[in-house]
Amino acid sequence: MKLIDITKAFQNVRKDTEDINENDCLNAIQKLKLSNYKDIPSIPLNKVKELFVQLLGDGFHLDDTKFKEVQDFLSNCTLKKMVDERLLAKVLRYLLRKDSTKKVALLIVDVQNDFISGSLALKHSPACEDGVDVVPVINQMVQMKFHFFVYTMDWHPQDHISFITNVSRYDLHPTSKVPLAKDAKTFDLVTFAGDGDPFDQVLWPAHCIQGTEGAELHPELTEIKGDNSMRLLKGIDPKVDSYSAFWDNNHTHQTKLFSELIDRDITDIVVCGLATDICVKFTAIDGQKHGFNTTVVLDACRGVAHDGIEIARCEQQACGIRIIDSSEVSSLLA
Ligand SMILES: [Zn+2]
Repeated sequence: MKLIDITKAFQNVRKDTEDINENDCLNAIQKLKLSNYKDIPSIPLNKVKELFVQLLGDGFHLDDTKFKEVQDFLSNCTLKKMVDERLLAKVLRYLLRKDSTKKVALLIVDVQNDFISGSLALKHSPACEDGVDVVPVINQMVQMKFHFFVYTMDWHPQDHISFITNVSRYDLHPTSKVPLAKDAKTFDLVTFAGDGDPFDQVLWPAHCIQGTEGAELHPELTEIKGDNSMRLLKGIDPKVDSYSAFWDNNHTHQTKLFSELIDRDITDIVVCGLATDICVKFTAIDGQKHGFNTTVVLDACRGVAHDGIEIARCEQQACGIRIIDSSEVSSLLA
């Protein structure tokens, strides 16, 4: 479901045209004691409806199916195990805003030295694509009229679980294809026991270690600075990897990206960078799941493996993501 569709559905049934601020939303959430529920799916539908009546008055009508869609959406884009009052208030303010003009953010994924010339340089991976080739294409795009620019960065601590050098620091699960740490090799897929459920992890060479040259953005990449731009650091938790800029791989921690986008009333995201079949793919798919109209600019991405790049294209298109060439970007911003 698209965020813009929810916003328009409410706009169509509302009588008043006043904007509702985040504090009003928070007060309504607290009045209904929604944080007492263990998660969003546990909130009864009549409470969801009551929430909107609190905010909009009772002079509007929406079908139950619409409220259920809204509830499902809120559940998809927030942490599963809790009702986060503040994030919920932000989302409600966003959904009920008066002005739903298209606003487009450019997400520039992991254009960092280690993926271009360092320990995980894409040019040495099976597809033999060179990460540096995205730099001039992205530099042209950042001159265009995007509302917001996000530079995501893999930003790992020394003891990060994804590094082959750290495989013996964490317990492997008995079901792991490589059950013993001493037998594990770079690029193996292993299963770690984790604190709760076991999870799979590819073992990479150590890369993008916080504060190192390899973790820096490529020196020729134009970085827009100011209120309309941010760096988004991911993969900070030593115990879990983060391919998507929205979530860690186990969905236990949500980055601030979603709330930064809705705070700026972003409706559309355009994703580019490294690597096509890993962080770009997961970020774009999560962007679409969070309800943004999502586009991937293929010639502004480079990937790891040909089959992975093809799978990424199929998976992205299957969930409604548009895949375009950089020559088409200006028409998106019109
Ligand atoms: Zn990484």
